[in-house]
Amino acid sequence: KKEGRNTYRLYRSEMDLAMQHHLTLETELRTILDTGEGLFMAYQPLVSRETRLTVSAEALVRWQHPTRGVIPPGDFIPLAERSGLILLLGERVLDNVISDICQWQQQGFEVMPVAINLSAAQFWQSSFVQHVEQKLADAGIPPKLITFELTESLLLNKQAQGIEILTNLSELGCRIALDDFGTGYSSLSYLQHIPAHSLKIDRSFIEALDDPNQSSRPIIAAIASMAQELGLSVVAEGVESEKQWAILGNYAIDTIQGFYTGYPVDADTFIMNLKQYPLKRS
Ligand code: C2E
Ligand code: MG
Ligand code: MG
Ligand code: MG
Repeated sequence: KKEGRNTYRLYRSEMDLAMQHHLTLETELRTILDTGEGLFMAYQPLVSRETRLTVSAEALVRWQHPTRGVIPPGDFIPLAERSGLILLLGERVLDNVISDICQWQQQGFEVMPVAINLSAAQFWQSSFVQHVEQKLADAGIPPKLITFELTESLLLNKQAQGIEILTNLSELGCRIALDDFGTGYSSLSYLQHIPAHSLKIDRSFIEALDDPNQSSRPIIAAIASMAQELGLSVVAEGVESEKQWAILGNYAIDTIQGFYTGYPVDADTFIMNLKQYPLKRS
């Protein structure tokens, strides 16, 4: 009972197998993180609802495994977090994104804003902001091109210290997005204290738009209008259909992200896909 309602017991042999699998994966992850080879970033467009132009890309890490194929982050980020590999992983992600941005610049896409997801350990690392500043300066990338995405839970118990780091990041010129918004437990009023630039309404609310028995509309409406009042830009995550896009037109949603406007794809394919939702050139 105390393990929670959604847990169930695996048979001994299955448990051993699962454990073995995790150990193998951890060893392999450790090895590839040494070189960085085998990790790549997939990019998904964020599209302006009004202009239908691509305004930025979210970088989503992928592991190209020699025998298992492409492994999604949900299958190895928790492992990296438990085993202390997450800092090195975060480092590789930052390096990969910087190198992709430089490549895009050479292809004529000088201004490609990119959002990077942050783990708690990375965020709370001492001198994280100075580190980011140094990396971007070395690569000649303006900090304003980088958004850091973080979830509400990250700030839960250490709001004051968290706000200080966010303020520093923001003063450096980077942008801050609150990811998966609406799924955490923090009160809405805490938003006024967080120096964020955008808020991403969690995919679960968008998914629920298709279910007439669920009342996600008033929640989306409330989150969006409050965010707008606070001067935050609002992103709807996980938009998969024309119908959802149309419904979202009733609310203060600035930006659409989801399979409807584009799947996460490698850096080269991302550029080719810009034919459909051209990049906003500012
Ligand atoms: P997230 O930051 O909320 O990213 C959005 C996730 O939703 C991505 O899954 C994306 O592929 C998926 N998605 C986007 N549009 C749709 C849609 O229309 N329908 C559906 N069903 N899904 C959609 P992905 O790439 O598997 O990433 C999962 C999570 O892993 C991310 O959630 C993020 O929390 C984490 N993550 C990804 N890359 C990184 C990274 O480089 N560093 C860290 N620390 N975490 C990462
Ligand atoms: Mg994200
Ligand atoms: Mg999200
Ligand atoms: Mg998520």
